[in-house]
Amino acid sequence: MITLHDKTFVPFISESEINQAIKNLADKISIDYKGETPIFLGVLNGAFMFLGELMKNYKGNCELSFTKLASYHGTMTSGIMKNLIGLNENIENHHVIIVEDIVDTGHTLEYLMNILAEKKPKSIKTATLFFKPDAYKKNIKIEYIGIEIPNKFIVGYGLDYDGLGRNLPEVYQLKI
Ligand code: 5GP
Ligand code: MG
Repeated sequence: MITLHDKTFVPFISESEINQAIKNLADKISIDYKGETPIFLGVLNGAFMFLGELMKNYKGNCELSFTKLASYHGTMTSGIMKNLIGLNENIENHHVIIVEDIVDTGHTLEYLMNILAEKKPKSIKTATLFFKPDAYKKNIKIEYIGIEIPNKFIVGYGLDYDGLGRNLPEVYQLKI
């Protein structure tokens, strides 16, 4: 059990399970993009750890970029978005793979997809480490899902609770 700020979290998904899921995703993506040079577009801050592990396991040429947009505080999804920042690379005519830590309602992903589509990439697909099928409200297809989880608040492996917990190598869920 761990405590972050005022809340208690209990172990939920082990480091080895996460790393195996990421390896499987990397293998799948490597096959799908054989002969191409996709750009992995990490969505900061949460995706940094997933992206590192994903790229280490990816076989083939690839490029890396980062962007940041959502404001998310505490344990509730705010639904309020900030502008897309940090994406300086020209993605026109490139294959882009959005790399997200978690897709919950899908608001963030939809927002990001709309902005990126205007930049005329050759293709856009999405890789997310965690996915909450019961919370998802959108129709956008998510091609690469690491681990599906119930509609619970999690921390660790890049995911935070009010700034804390990102460094944890395994995932914890809020104790109820
Ligand atoms: P959305 O609802 O737009 O799909 O997700 C918005 C953002 O909320 C995610 O990118 C992530 O930063 C945050 N989020 C959603 N679910 C969780 C969760 O269980 N734990 C943490 N730490 N963040 C979450
Ligand atoms: Mg996020």
